[in-house]
Amino acid sequence: MNAATVRHILDTMEAMFPDAHCELNHSNAFELTVAVLLSAQCTDETVNKVTADLFQKYKSPADYLEVPLEELEQDIRRIGLYRNKAKHIQNMCRILIEQYGGDVPQEHDQLVTLPGVGRKTANVVVSNAFGVPAIAVDTHVERVSKRLGLAGWDDTVLEVEKKLMKRVPRDEWTLTHHRLIFFGRYHCKAQNPQCHICPLLDICREGKKRMKTSQIRKDKERVTTRKPKLNS
Ligand code: SF4
Repeated sequence: MNAATVRHILDTMEAMFPDAHCELNHSNAFELTVAVLLSAQCTDETVNKVTADLFQKYKSPADYLEVPLEELEQDIRRIGLYRNKAKHIQNMCRILIEQYGGDVPQEHDQLVTLPGVGRKTANVVVSNAFGVPAIAVDTHVERVSKRLGLAGWDDTVLEVEKKLMKRVPRDEWTLTHHRLIFFGRYHCKAQNPQCHICPLLDICREGKKRMKTSQIRKDKERVTTRKPKLNS
């Protein structure tokens, strides 16, 4: 894919979603880290419902360690995998207190060593909380990148991230991450992508394939519904 096409994709997404942003509610790096940890295999909407109360009750890493694990589990029970996530949160809080003075470390290499914090979470935290450009690849970013040909169909999540970092100017990584998520969440959805009204259809391999398939289906339906008139 050439640079002009990449530019066209980025500009189109910016025009469609000029206000794209992190949809996980948080007011500091620590809350963001907890929210992203909770968001694995769960919608941002559900996480926000849970953190609305959670962040009132727990303000610091020490607060999470003052309650028994079972109490924290109950506080986040509406979230999938809540038992594991509760354990990760308490273990993470223990390390933050013991090794980082109760703060979330700013280095990516340090973040990924925390329990429950993977590469994607670390990218979200460094970019949104500390202003370091990064592209976190979640399910939306991966799907949209592959459909548009910004990455290969068989690329791993890490390969998708590397290709995006190569193709997108560094100072646009963080915003591009948000725009790809909005584009995937509200337009190029997993099940029903809006190809028929998509401004990127002319350059999208997946969209062209889908439009062709739906045209063939329509043609077939037209043929089968056109029944011959029988002479009596
Ligand atoms: S044409 Fe369809 S598959 Fe391609 S980016 Fe647009 S909505 Fe997604």
